[in-house]
Amino acid sequence: MTPLLPALSAFLLTLSLAAPAAALDPTQLPPQSRSVVQEPARGAHQPPVPRAAKLLEPALHLPKSQTPGVLRVALTFDACMGEVDQRILSVLLSERIPATIFVTARWLRRNPQTLALFKAHPELFELENHGENHVPAVDQPMQIYGIAAAGSPQAVEQEVAGGASAMQAAGVDRPHWFRGATAKYDVSAMMQIRAMGFRIAGYSVNGDGGSLLGAALSEKHIANARDGDVVLAHINQPTHAAGEGVARGILALKRRGATFVRLSDVPDLSDETLTH
Ligand SMILES: [Zn+2]
Repeated sequence: MTPLLPALSAFLLTLSLAAPAAALDPTQLPPQSRSVVQEPARGAHQPPVPRAAKLLEPALHLPKSQTPGVLRVALTFDACMGEVDQRILSVLLSERIPATIFVTARWLRRNPQTLALFKAHPELFELENHGENHVPAVDQPMQIYGIAAAGSPQAVEQEVAGGASAMQAAGVDRPHWFRGATAKYDVSAMMQIRAMGFRIAGYSVNGDGGSLLGAALSEKHIANARDGDVVLAHINQPTHAAGEGVARGILALKRRGATFVRLSDVPDLSDETLTH
């Protein structure tokens, strides 16, 4: 007699959000955003299906300043695909604000002029690795915000190494930081990425909700950043309202007296606590 096993076709993953204050606004996300993992029905004659990985969305903070009143913030921008948001880029250039830009190979191919501009201003822009094809760095098959994850260690390696190779082929220094598409990982993929020589770039303020927030909320999130925050926003969506708010939020932060740093400007910045 076959024991009755529940034929689960799907179950929900519990997301571990390390940056709760910065969580994405679920109303702005596609309906697939609950990270439902599809599993085949389990029968008595099939091998057990491994449990799906728990996803982590790691946080990253700069060390707090020891001096009262200092407001040190790292602005990080993802350039996933698409083009460049001149509303944000023009503020960074005209205000001489340094930033870390996470680029994909896809974005690099499509934006040679902006890449040349970034390379012409090494005092402002640090370029880091956002992967080859904007595939989430998760080594089990699943959908995250409607995007298919890499799905295997080999595909994670391809995404990470392919992104770095494209950067070096484009004349950019070898990256030291990696931020995967969706900024979510499973623990084994995080260990793999670190073993490849990259640190994993979390964040502490979700500035623009994946570029889907309105301008006012994006402005507020960024303008209210605190000392030690690592802000995540997008610089590749010139048609989205969020970018206007991101630009205004950066200006507001500057008026508050913020000191802006890139990740490479902070030698004691560590991602070591991310997997705990
Ligand atoms: Zn992205």
